[in-house]
Amino acid sequence: MVESPPLVLVIEDDPPIRHFLRISLQTQGYRYTEAPTAHDGLVAATSQSPDVIILDLGLPDMDGVDLVRQIRSWSTMPVIVISARGKEQDKVIALDAGADDYLTKPFGIGELTARLRAALRRRVLHSNTGEPVFAVGELRVDRATRSVSINDRTLHLTPNEYRLLAVLVAHAGKVLTHRQLLKEVWGPQATEETHYLRVYMNQLRQKLEAHPAQPRYLLTEPGVGYRLAVE
Ligand code: CA
Repeated sequence: MVESPPLVLVIEDDPPIRHFLRISLQTQGYRYTEAPTAHDGLVAATSQSPDVIILDLGLPDMDGVDLVRQIRSWSTMPVIVISARGKEQDKVIALDAGADDYLTKPFGIGELTARLRAALRRRVLHSNTGEPVFAVGELRVDRATRSVSINDRTLHLTPNEYRLLAVLVAHAGKVLTHRQLLKEVWGPQATEETHYLRVYMNQLRQKLEAHPAQPRYLLTEPGVGYRLAVE
């Protein structure tokens, strides 16, 4: 049986951006559906079961962040938010509310399809939850034995380094905010301690990356957080 291409739902009130997304996504082989308001978007999300949602934060009838919260109350479908350049705080709030990723306007087709691939790959990874081994490039993380290797060379990680990596692996491809990472690794009382993250991320990169200043796996999302590469 041939699998049909993924269905992308775009919730965006700006007609030129919808037009750009419709042309770009259909050219790339995706199935496309759209909604100009949060209300219509919610109806489409429930009735059409899209594989991924692209969501504008500035909608006429509801704040996009509130829509993310609503969707998250009943669904794990990937949500990529789009927002205007320079509004890091908006992105952080949307990610903390449960969005998976974000695109900054204006964005190009290459950036868009990379985010879509990551979101769809993550769904596959999540459906294989019984699978203890995560692998991307030369990096291999075996969660059953807690062993990490690069190029078949076993790495020796401290417990905190491993915990940080394990959280990134559990959400591979997703942007995790500083707050989310601190909460999961060090606990809810540590969500402001961003220097912990800087220190441990630096240590992890020294061990994992061939070029720690130009990471291949542990990617920085400036002003927002980090992401583990999935391709
Ligand atoms: Ca808008």
